[in-house]
Amino acid sequence: MFLENPDRIGGWIEVICGSMFSGKTEELIRRLKRAKFARQKVEIFKPEIDTRYDEEQVVSHDENAIHSTPVPASSNILLMANDVRVVGIDEAQFFDLELVNVCNQLASRGIRVIVAGLDMDFTGKPFGPIPGLMAVAEYVTKVHAVCMRCGSLANHSHRISTAEDLVVLGETDAYEPLCRRCFDHAREKDKTKAMSSDEAH
Ligand code: ZN
Repeated sequence: MFLENPDRIGGWIEVICGSMFSGKTEELIRRLKRAKFARQKVEIFKPEIDTRYDEEQVVSHDENAIHSTPVPASSNILLMANDVRVVGIDEAQFFDLELVNVCNQLASRGIRVIVAGLDMDFTGKPFGPIPGLMAVAEYVTKVHAVCMRCGSLANHSHRISTAEDLVVLGETDAYEPLCRRCFDHAREKDKTKAMSSDEAH
């Protein structure tokens, strides 16, 4: 569990990352609500692309929602984060790579920046600006889901739908959280399936 440091002076960056169904957004909301209780001014942003639920909310799967502003690019956050103590960013993997510079600038202004996002895409590769953010952050928390096949801790998001786009997210029927061992097995099977369907054509 991340321990917020009340004595810390100035700004810093916290990253919360993991697979689908690992509770990233819930952990982001928990930290932001604590800051709000302490009467700190909080602003929350997410990429405009994430329109699964309400346009104006960071919504986690358990409906523990908190108001947020969708923005088209990471540079918009710099312009909009005025006079705030804490900035929260959800679904950060879908932002452009400039998000790393944006978060650095915010933190250098004295702002506490809390970023949540998927650390890997469905192929197991580092996702968008998240690896860069993990490098520059003061604090990184990896949260885990439970593997749907063996019950150990899961760090991968295996795609079980046929959708081609990377930007399919959130639906329980499209992804399953898997551990490394089960993910490697599943990806092998996917490749074999893809090859045999190619041969059929
Ligand atoms: Zn497993």
